[in-house]
Amino acid sequence: MNLAKKNIQLLVGPTYLPERVRKAMDHPALSHRSQEYYDVQHEVTEGVKKILGTSHDLLMLTCSGTGAIEAIIQNLFKPGDQVVIPITGEFGKLIYNVAKPYGLDIKRIDFDYGQVADINQVMDQVTDETKAVLMVHNESSTGAKNDIQAFGEALKDKDTLLIVDAVSSAACVEIQMDQWHIDVVLTASQKGLMSPPGLAFVAMNDKAWDKVAEIANDRYYFNFRKDRKYVHEDRTVHTPATHTALAVREALRMIEEEGLDKVLNRHQDNARYVRQEAQDIGFKLMIEDEANACASLTCIKAPGQAKYYTSELKKRGIEVGGGKNPLGEDTFRIGTMGYVFKEDVTACMDALREIYQEKNRG
Ligand SMILES: *Cc1c(COP(=O)(O)O)cnc(C)c1O
Repeated sequence: MNLAKKNIQLLVGPTYLPERVRKAMDHPALSHRSQEYYDVQHEVTEGVKKILGTSHDLLMLTCSGTGAIEAIIQNLFKPGDQVVIPITGEFGKLIYNVAKPYGLDIKRIDFDYGQVADINQVMDQVTDETKAVLMVHNESSTGAKNDIQAFGEALKDKDTLLIVDAVSSAACVEIQMDQWHIDVVLTASQKGLMSPPGLAFVAMNDKAWDKVAEIANDRYYFNFRKDRKYVHEDRTVHTPATHTALAVREALRMIEEEGLDKVLNRHQDNARYVRQEAQDIGFKLMIEDEANACASLTCIKAPGQAKYYTSELKKRGIEVGGGKNPLGEDTFRIGTMGYVFKEDVTACMDALREIYQEKNRG
């Protein structure tokens, strides 16, 4: 299945680009005002909506995932609005850092890295004044998976919006925007969607669109009201990342052919295997409780030694993700996101076992 792969990349984003995806980008310049392009955007939009489990409008933005977070903040809030941001790692902190300059009244709730967001502690901070809870689904710096379904349940009858960063979860773990009562979901092209960076996606339900209508947003580039009009015609206001769109379309076709359920199960199986092997070798994991672990990546503890392990793996032709600062020296991350198969994780963990044993023989 994976014969075209020469070296093994178990990355945490941008992820491995399958040959089919790379070939799809080998395409002449594509006018974003052509029917050919509209067909691409249409297919991409429908495919991403399916992965997010939504029938609501999906915006396609030309920016990275962080740009989508910023766009959401610009379009949904005004200075003084109260929001709650649970932080379970560096990506929760990213949301906080993006939101901070906008003058929002932010209730920040810090959890220890390696924990998931405790719903009771978060809900204690939610009042009638709270406009939104903004949180990550998978916390990519630690590998924690927040129970978004439970948060959706807790917030569904309130005015408070649930805004979820699904950059490292879409197409890796199940997410059901509509069924789980999530109001806004964002993701990006370069993780589970197996494509180069360049595109971000934002889906919003009516409760969120009502908020957009309330905010007098006269911003030029990230203007969701303008964007939405164009989306209905399968186009964007300005020039989109056309070739990333071609890549995403091909990746979505691959996911469709394999079957989304199978894709998600493959992620789960690979991550479980990495967790088991890592512990069997002698490592400790950042997320100890399997129920809280995401299937996109596994964060392995190697105090003071993380760079040794990643560079030794690299020498053997296996690329994995480093730790994300401040965990850079002490952890590394094995990505199981996107185009990763059993033989890849097996090769990686066999090599890791060898490296560990050589090192610890003294
Ligand atoms: C990768 C990632 C981001 C950042 O996305 P960029 O595209 O690098 O801006 C945001 N949130 C999560 C959870 C991520 O994994």
